[in-house]
Amino acid sequence: MFETYARLGERALRDEPPSEQEALWILDADDVELLPLLHAAFLPRREHFGRRVMVHVLDNAQNGLCPEDCGYCSQSKRSEAPLRKYPLKNEDEILAGAERAARAGATRYCIVLSGRGPTLARTRELAAIVRRIKERYPIGVCLSVGLLEEEHARILADAGLDRLNHNLNTSESHYPEICTTHTYADRVRTLAAAKKSGIEPCSGLIVGMGERSTDLVEVAFRLRELEVPSIPVNFLIPIAGNPVLSDGSLAPERCLRVLALMRLVNPRAEIRIAAGREGHLRSLGALSLWPANSLFVEGYLTTRGDAVAETYRMIRDAGFEVDGNPLSRAEGIAGDVLAGGYRLTGREGEILRPEVVRPA
Ligand code: SF4
Repeated sequence: MFETYARLGERALRDEPPSEQEALWILDADDVELLPLLHAAFLPRREHFGRRVMVHVLDNAQNGLCPEDCGYCSQSKRSEAPLRKYPLKNEDEILAGAERAARAGATRYCIVLSGRGPTLARTRELAAIVRRIKERYPIGVCLSVGLLEEEHARILADAGLDRLNHNLNTSESHYPEICTTHTYADRVRTLAAAKKSGIEPCSGLIVGMGERSTDLVEVAFRLRELEVPSIPVNFLIPIAGNPVLSDGSLAPERCLRVLALMRLVNPRAEIRIAAGREGHLRSLGALSLWPANSLFVEGYLTTRGDAVAETYRMIRDAGFEVDGNPLSRAEGIAGDVLAGGYRLTGREGEILRPEVVRPA
C-alpha cells in the first residue's frame, strides 16, 4: 500500500510528475492516507529546500478602486464588501514596511497594487521604490501589479526587481466564470514578459472557487509547463459582498492534498501556503510545512492572518526553521518571537483548583 506513495516521492525527486490519473487520485480518492502522501511530497521539499521555511510579508500598497471584475476579490468593481480604499502609499510608507519585514526575518517583501496594470509612469515610480529597497535592505522584492507588457517588465528588471507575481488562479476553462474583463491569455503573457526580462515569475492559484479537481490538476500542470519557480496556493477567504464565495470544498485535508499535489507536480518550485492558511487548515496548519516551504505572515491583501510570533512558533514546533535574510541571520530575529517555553492558547495562567471534598 505504501508503494504508491514511495513511487510518487521518488519520481518527484527525479523531477517526474505524477500522471493525470494519479493527480486526480491524490485529490479525490477515498483510500488516500494523508500522512504517507505528505511524506511523499516532503521528499522533494527536503531535497530542494531542506527544513527551511521562506517567510513573506505582503504590503497592500494600493487598495480598491479596481475596474476589473475578478469575482474572488473585494477590490473589484463587482464587490460590495466594505473596504477602506486608498491610492498608492507614499515611498516612505513602503520603505518602512520593507524595513519591518527585513527585521522580522522575512525572505521576501511583496508589494501589491490593485488595478488592471500600471502605466509606464507608474511603473517608473515603482521601479524607483524597488531600487531604494534593494539598496537599503537585504530582502527579496516581489511586485504584483496586474497585467504588464515587456516594456514595463524591463523597467522593473533594470531596477533590480526579483519577482513578479501574477496568478493564473484556476484552469483556462474555468477562468471565464471568475473574471471577464481580462483573459487567461493576458495572464500568461504577463508571466512571459517577466521571464523574458529576467524577472522570476511567481504564479499560483485560488482553491475553493467552484472548480473541479480536473481544473486544479490542469493549473498544476500549466504552472509546470511554464516553469514557474514560485507558486502561491491560496484557499479562498469568503468575504461577504464578493460575488465568488467559498464553495464549501475546503476541509483541512482537502487543502493538504492540494498542497501535496502542487509539490509533486512542481517538485523544485517554492510552494507557498498563501491566503486562507489559518481559517481553512486550522489545527492541521503545521502539516502544510511538509509539502510547502513558504508562507505569509501578518495577513493577506484585505484580511488579517497569524502574526509573526505565532507563525514562527508553529514552524519551530514542527521541527522546521525560518529561512530569514542576511540581516536577520546576522542580528537574530527581532523581538522575542523565537523565545521558547511553556505556552497555552486561550486564557493563560489560570489555575484550576481541585475541589476540596470534606469527609462527612
Ligand atoms: S484581483 Fe487585481 S485585477 Fe482583479 S479585481 Fe482584484 S485588484 Fe483588480
